[in-house]
Amino acid sequence: MKTLDYILSDPRLTIRRAGQPDMEGRCVVYWMQRAQRAVDNPALTAAIDAGNCLGKPVVVFFQLVPHAHHANYRHYQFLVEGLAEIAAELQKRKVGFVLRRYPDHGLLQFCSEVRPCLVIADENPLMEAEHTKTRIAEKIIPPFWTVDSDVVVPSKLLAKEHYAARTIRPKIHALLPQYLRKVENPAAQFPWRTPSHVLSLVPDPSLLDNFPIDRAVAPSAYFRGGSQEAKRCFEQFLRSRLKGYATQRNKPDLDGTSQLSPYLHFGHIGVQTVALAVQRADAPAQDRNAFLEELIVRRELAVNFVRFNRNYENFDACEPWADVTHRIHVRDPRQYLYSEKHLEDAETHDPLWNAAQKQMVLTGWMHGYLRMYWAKKILEWTESPLAAYQIAVRLNDRYELDGRDPNGYAGIAWAVVGKHDRAWGPERPIYGKIRYMSFASTSRKFNSKAYIARVAALEKGALSDP
Ligand code: FAD
Repeated sequence: MKTLDYILSDPRLTIRRAGQPDMEGRCVVYWMQRAQRAVDNPALTAAIDAGNCLGKPVVVFFQLVPHAHHANYRHYQFLVEGLAEIAAELQKRKVGFVLRRYPDHGLLQFCSEVRPCLVIADENPLMEAEHTKTRIAEKIIPPFWTVDSDVVVPSKLLAKEHYAARTIRPKIHALLPQYLRKVENPAAQFPWRTPSHVLSLVPDPSLLDNFPIDRAVAPSAYFRGGSQEAKRCFEQFLRSRLKGYATQRNKPDLDGTSQLSPYLHFGHIGVQTVALAVQRADAPAQDRNAFLEELIVRRELAVNFVRFNRNYENFDACEPWADVTHRIHVRDPRQYLYSEKHLEDAETHDPLWNAAQKQMVLTGWMHGYLRMYWAKKILEWTESPLAAYQIAVRLNDRYELDGRDPNGYAGIAWAVVGKHDRAWGPERPIYGKIRYMSFASTSRKFNSKAYIARVAALEKGALSDP
């Protein structure tokens, strides 16, 4: 059995409130937020190991709160679809699941009811989640630890904001042998029973009835949330699309990517699970390596960006060279100038851009190659880089199921303010030295007509895949 010292020695773990667990306490609480899964979850493993070591049962606490940053019905529905499975899987491991929703959702209230000796949470590098944890750490009575569960390399080990993939890659690769490991899934030795005075809701779709959320964006008819769906989607990718990924991932007409981003965002599948299975898969090394570069290096570069640059959601994330170039070009005449509403409604002169916007609005997911083009054109067609940044963040977060994610903020910062990129020549109107993408060059890279036709079929409801 693992000792507390051993659990504490894991670099994934951060002590938010120090102290010895009170042996009078009744349980260990795992406050699940980002890592919404009951298997391959390092925070849950730490909670179960700690419970077994302290001789206490473990209960997972999940709170459903409205008004999560930029979240709407589409995101909430996807989240709720994953909850029933979590409860069922936890039961197999003798771990409890207590679900509360606003206004009865407070963690401190729950702690006063169950008197834990220790509280563990997972990490989320985004500001809103981090502020909540800081506030909790100030008020909570038992020791409070967090575990960085949704990255391969614990993000604090990368220590500072990295300039680009080429600077972070060697550091990540050097740490992979130590951190790209199978997550253990122990069972709790002391089963949890929810006391009768403790309120716990049933994790079913009625949770969203009368819940005060923004309902303007409908749930996706193409992506269903939950770990089972994540697994099914991943297995399909391993079987039929990993082979060829290196050459086909930038061809939106072929749909050669994994479409795992919504599941990774909600933590329905763990990054370690995906990375290890791809490493072992029967596919050419160039395909496996290309995928792992996106899944680990690019994704953890994005986490590094939001963790160490608190301007990630606004124009101040700008690199100094990009700031200079934008100041020079901000008043350049725009041949096309669109309002946010025109963009949102896909009413531009550009059929490829409109198709990409529609794919996102209709399905909750846009192909990655087109996300670059999409954001670059918002820069070109709006009144200023500042406006472009804000509009891109709002639309991305509103419609993408994987929105509100470090990857989205890093992707938009890359496209609009040169984050993780370099200055490019020749200098162009509006873009200055920011990397340029044109309709002609982008359309030449793949069969754009086939992609546009595909989205038209989606619009008519004639396709079941996004
Ligand atoms: P795959 O090609 O199958 O890649 C597997 C996983 O690797 C992805 O699920 C993702 O987690 C990670 N990944 C892939 N490409 C990138 C990348 N460029 N940067 C960081 N991680 C990557 N990703 C989001 O998850 N949420 C967003 O809101 C988001 N918005 C973006 C906006 C813009 C303007 C740009 C340029 C990129 C954005 N991305 C975002 C990154 C990337 O486009 C998506 O992660 C990817 O297209 C998702 O599809 P997939 O799961 O099929 O990717």
